[in-house]
Amino acid sequence: MTEEPIKVYGFGTQAKDKDLIPVVFNRKKVGKGEVAFKVTHCGVCHSDLHQARNDWSNTQYPCVPGHEIVGTVTAIGQGVSKVKVGDVVGVGCIIDSCQECDYCEAGEENYCQGEKGATLTYNGPMKPDGTNTYGGYSTDIIAREEFILKVPAKIDPEYAGPIMCAGITVYSPMKHWDLKEGQTLGVAGIGGLGHMAIQIGKALGAKVTAFTRDEINKDEILKMGADKVVVSTDDDQMKAAAVSLDMLINTIPVPHDLAPYISLMKTDGKIIVVGNMVKFPEFSPASLVFSRITLAGSLIGGVRQTQEILNLCAEKDIRPSIKMIDIKDINTVFDTLANGDSDGHFRHVIDMDTLRNHDAVRSGDATKLDDPIRA
Ligand code: NDP
Ligand code: ZN
Repeated sequence: MTEEPIKVYGFGTQAKDKDLIPVVFNRKKVGKGEVAFKVTHCGVCHSDLHQARNDWSNTQYPCVPGHEIVGTVTAIGQGVSKVKVGDVVGVGCIIDSCQECDYCEAGEENYCQGEKGATLTYNGPMKPDGTNTYGGYSTDIIAREEFILKVPAKIDPEYAGPIMCAGITVYSPMKHWDLKEGQTLGVAGIGGLGHMAIQIGKALGAKVTAFTRDEINKDEILKMGADKVVVSTDDDQMKAAAVSLDMLINTIPVPHDLAPYISLMKTDGKIIVVGNMVKFPEFSPASLVFSRITLAGSLIGGVRQTQEILNLCAEKDIRPSIKMIDIKDINTVFDTLANGDSDGHFRHVIDMDTLRNHDAVRSGDATKLDDPIRA
């Protein structure tokens, strides 16, 4: 058990219009029931970019993003039995919750209704005391044992991170709204979340139609298992796909017209919004009413279900399509995501050794941040 605070280097930003830069802070020593691990890899989720650039108007700076985190356990606190030093583990979007409310009891910590709510891995609970959390774009991280995920041996560590946010975020609504074998699942926006949705939907026995803005990635999308690719900017193709879907998972990260997607749904179809959290332009609810269509939202998933999807990905050989990056390139990657560009890889993953070997870390010349406080 470590008695000293851990000196941690990371990449973070102080304001919405500033680049991420090397930062340094201390994580307090590992407490009872907590696990510390050395981060080896961290996926780059579009939410990291939204948060760093304050797209949701709720960012608490400084912001050190990262919630698709994988690494090796370095220390365990008193009473920890789930993992031991040396295990390969991960953490997704949550590091703590009340553990008492009905949602936590049901394994849905992501919807924790306790007084303080769930503590997000970064941009924490924003309690009145100013508590913030710093995420996985960092050399080491600490989480409560209950939120530590075990990375199955069959999954190489660099592939595990994106399952813990992108994977669970699309798997959870498929389970909650009971996607059935033989039903048709639509996936709108084929990026990090979307490409996992195609593979997971197929594994659950659905027919999958991918909706993408152009044909650039059509071959890769078909190779991933999609039965059909529809170019969403082509009105004829969209019309031809009318009334074909039982469920649509909409991962598009920006405001966009929902009406063309509503017309894709069969009677009783379910549209699950997981991407855009800002606004939708006006659309007529009549199109929902006349076909008894459900329009719903969904937020990541609980710990139990996240472990379930990790295990399912191991069993069914589902892996994200990743491109490994050096942390010094993170700002360019953010620009790429913001522009909606893609180069045939659907998730960037930071090799955290590139942070350990970064000049700023070697020289100790990084911007000092206030230490994050854990409740
Ligand atoms: P990516 O950037 O990897 O993928 C988004 C995809 O959406 C792109 O690949 C592109 O697909 C499409 N897209 C991008 N820009 C536009 C645009 N301007 N107009 C229309 N389509 C566009 O993002 P992620 O998959 O990482 O995340 C997607 C969204 O989900 C983000 O908003 C993120 O914050 C959110 N999210 C939500 C979670 C939740 O719990 N609800 C959890 C995690 C993420 P194509 O090229 O095929 O058109
Ligand atoms: Zn994410």
